[in-house]
Amino acid sequence: MNLIKFIESFPDEKACMLKFKQIRDDVGVTCRKCGGKQHYWQQTTLQYQCKHCKTRTTLRSGTVLQSSNLPYRYWFIAIHLMTSTKKSFSALEMQRQLGHKFYEPVWYMVQKLRKTMGLRDGKYHLNKIVELDEGFFESVDTEKSKDEKLQEMTKRGRGSQKQSPVMVMASTVYDFSSKKEYKKPTKFRYVRMIVMDNMKSETVENIVQENIDYDSVVKTDNYTSYNKIKENVWAHHSEKVNRKDVEKILPWVHTMISNAKRTLLGIHHMISKKYMQDYLDEFCYKVNRRYFGENVFDRLLVACVTNNYKNCIHDSR
Ligand SMILES: [Zn+2]
Repeated sequence: MNLIKFIESFPDEKACMLKFKQIRDDVGVTCRKCGGKQHYWQQTTLQYQCKHCKTRTTLRSGTVLQSSNLPYRYWFIAIHLMTSTKKSFSALEMQRQLGHKFYEPVWYMVQKLRKTMGLRDGKYHLNKIVELDEGFFESVDTEKSKDEKLQEMTKRGRGSQKQSPVMVMASTVYDFSSKKEYKKPTKFRYVRMIVMDNMKSETVENIVQENIDYDSVVKTDNYTSYNKIKENVWAHHSEKVNRKDVEKILPWVHTMISNAKRTLLGIHHMISKKYMQDYLDEFCYKVNRRYFGENVFDRLLVACVTNNYKNCIHDSR
């Protein structure tokens, strides 16, 4: 959706609220007390009332927008900005665009939208031919104690910046139309990136189990942490390769790693390790929906209605 169309469709708070209600009606409201699905709409209080037990549900309750005091319009603008460009938006830039006085509520809104994107993508498994490799993304560890940070600074002469290992998986298929001279032999389909606490083989095994269908072919280099992959998928092709030539056997994973780095580091000066997953989720969500066009706006709005805000506060992984 372009900006003109967005402004025409959602000129004010009422238009946004009506659209939000329309989606809630389509998805269906469930009573939190009795689980009833049938409700009356009360126009005066703008609430649903359960036909069975009379419990009231506000329009935002049970959605990602619950507990946010920001207008619907802010959410709509944020969803538009975040889905209409390939780029990422910092919460500071979002705050400037909205002209809102406070940073914190805008930061929470943007963050909840990223989490919603991650939850949505988490419902799918990758399959077909899956390239798998780890990438390293620069982050700051905000969880560390002051002493630890001081120790690192004296040791290395800079803050606690470090490289977070990220498992990157790219689902591909053979591209029979590809002309060998200038194209990759496979076509790219979907990507997923998971921040790893460590690179032990059990960690890799868990990530593979949770994200890749059993009847897939997984391609990797011959790194030892990958030795258990074959137990979790139909076939594991591991190729011995020099680190500098790894892009030849895993071309899409490495294209995605460099695209993600360019997208994230160009916008966000420094990403805390704690939130790295959310930024990666936003990147993957957009890449995976690159052919959806303006539908991405509606899809994310639906995801905001179907997901509970509580899942967006606590880490769901
Ligand atoms: Zn009820």
